[in-house]
Amino acid sequence: MSTETVTDLLQRYQQRLTGVFGSPQTVLQRGEGTRVWDADGNEYLDMLGGIAVNALGHAHPEHAAALNAQQNRLGHISNLFTSEPQIALAEKLLELSGAPEGSTVFFANSGSEANEAGLKAVLRHRKDTGKQRILALENGFHGRTIGALSLTHKPAYREPFGELIGPVEFLAPNDLQALEASFEHDDVAGLFLEPVQGEAGVHALDDQYLLKARELTRSHGALLVFDEVQTGIGRTGEWFNHLRVPGLQPDLMTLAKGLGSGFPIGGLISYGPQVSALLSPGQHGTTFGGNPPATVAGLTTLAVIESESLLQNAREVGSQLAEALNALDEVTAVRQYGLHLGVDLQVPGCTEPAKQLAGTALSKHGLIINATGEHTLRLAPPLNISPEEAAEAVQRLTAALADLTEKEHTP
Ligand SMILES: *Cc1c(COP(=O)(O)O)cnc(C)c1O
Repeated sequence: MSTETVTDLLQRYQQRLTGVFGSPQTVLQRGEGTRVWDADGNEYLDMLGGIAVNALGHAHPEHAAALNAQQNRLGHISNLFTSEPQIALAEKLLELSGAPEGSTVFFANSGSEANEAGLKAVLRHRKDTGKQRILALENGFHGRTIGALSLTHKPAYREPFGELIGPVEFLAPNDLQALEASFEHDDVAGLFLEPVQGEAGVHALDDQYLLKARELTRSHGALLVFDEVQTGIGRTGEWFNHLRVPGLQPDLMTLAKGLGSGFPIGGLISYGPQVSALLSPGQHGTTFGGNPPATVAGLTTLAVIESESLLQNAREVGSQLAEALNALDEVTAVRQYGLHLGVDLQVPGCTEPAKQLAGTALSKHGLIINATGEHTLRLAPPLNISPEEAAEAVQRLTAALADLTEKEHTP
């Protein structure tokens, strides 16, 4: 235990850490599976999993042991050299994605960087073909670095920085007519989309829309990029969310969040030899990306998802959660894809029920949940959460909701 309290530590934080994250809610110290403890010894059920990152939960013994062993053997080496785990992880990802012969993987350190690499491939294609337009979707989120930010819809994230990479045009999700109209002039270089929009509150694109996007990009010589940074690696009960649509394959796919189950690693998969050749030697790079510890974290994550049948667990516990949440009076909608859940709320008299609920849940009921909007919660717990832990989380959420409705009714 720390000798300093949460309050002391947060005070030190406020003085020395750049304020982009506002005020952190508490100081976490230790974790085990779906539970974490703060510096005052309070216990929490973690229904956010480091924002869809901790696929194997906290301090998974195999994950920790594999990382320790790798650090003891060989840590960082730069990309002037390669290592067996890097090669093995690339092979495994290509196998799981069903990518064709000639497909390749580029490893980065984050989701934004994976998207930067994808955008650079699209810019190479733009330069080669003269097709000028880059498309992305309204409410889409692709990261905070300049390229990834250019593809991110929310004006509040982009506008403080003036002119970005462009021009990026934002289409309304699931609007087939708008999609068709944008391809009328044969001048699109690439289309970026999330098969399920995570930051937007877990909204899936229709199968029909994804198939139409594939058909149009293919017939008009544009690249289709799936950002599966949040939805990939089993989050939605499939290895990659788009595999729910039979036969659907992008030209590029970006990954990060769950891939290292907490160890930073991102990746860009290029489908087939032509797309793989867009970025040629010297045209892109990274110091850290794909180093031995990061790729061992990735390999271990994938191996444990397989050995513990976590895709199945994500589907089963996810639907258990959806059913229990749907039964709550204040819940107006649940969107559930494996263990990726968006939950809409209405609480009479509350203008921002999701935010208030997340605050009360954390401070009074030992529950970590996340508000993506005024009325929307996102749940993305570890993929190995047990049915009992899920039931307990719903109990804690119900108690927090009762607090909120009571407070509203007390003058
Ligand atoms: C989180 C996220 C990103 C950005 O990833 P970082 O690791 O924060 O750079 C990009 N795309 C999607 C869909 C995300 O959810």
